[in-house]
Amino acid sequence: MSFSQLEVLAQCALRYRYMYEWRLPATADDLWPRRTPGSDSAMSAADLGTLVHEVLERFHQPGADDGAGGMARLRALWEEIATVSEGAERATAVWRQTAEGMFERYLPSEVAGMATIATEKEVNLAVDVDDRPVLVRGFIDRLCRDADGRVWIVDYKTNRSLGRDSLAAYGRQLAIYQRASREVLGLDAGALLVEMRTGAVHRQEGDGWPEVETLLATLVGGDRSAPPDPPCGGCAYWRGCPSSTRRPGNDPRP
Ligand code: SF4
Repeated sequence: MSFSQLEVLAQCALRYRYMYEWRLPATADDLWPRRTPGSDSAMSAADLGTLVHEVLERFHQPGADDGAGGMARLRALWEEIATVSEGAERATAVWRQTAEGMFERYLPSEVAGMATIATEKEVNLAVDVDDRPVLVRGFIDRLCRDADGRVWIVDYKTNRSLGRDSLAAYGRQLAIYQRASREVLGLDAGALLVEMRTGAVHRQEGDGWPEVETLLATLVGGDRSAPPDPPCGGCAYWRGCPSSTRRPGNDPRP
């Protein structure tokens, strides 16, 4: 069980059934990535996110002097990775400029200068839910230590904007990582979400684990009905779903 699977469950348990239990293919037009309006690139926002994460992973290799090389190194890594990645020819100037803006905002932050312990750290957390074992799997973008010796989980987000729902969802993700760090890695870590588009750093407050437990209980409990106000606008199954509230010609997505 990954975080993204858990979030599909949080949005609509019926969609979770279609996607992960029945493994239904999406309808053809929903399989095509949407181009970003105003962009001269066919590269999707998800591709951009992947590239930015790869650059940061290389930039923060454990043992390296964090932040060393600054923008020049980040630029060099971007060029190197963007020109060998799949669809590299699509990583046009628009995306280069967007990524550069992210790196410029990120570099002066305290987070950028922390000492890296690990990047892309895989964690597998075994949870007992109603006497049933569930394995929650994830990858922590970066584990690092601040000047006072406190350990932090850092998660980078490249979303265009983060609304309340997104922040709540990512709060659950960080709660999983915190739990896994404690139980699997033996590290009592705080958690930070870095908004790469704005440079904002959100510190995880409180304990988000009870919300995760509620979702896990739904998972093993088996209720797969749609919620009262399902998010059908972005659902790939809307055409065949009897509970869909989306109608042909009513496409709220960009
Ligand atoms: S179309 Fe709506 S109700 Fe049906 S699976 Fe998708 S989100 Fe859920």
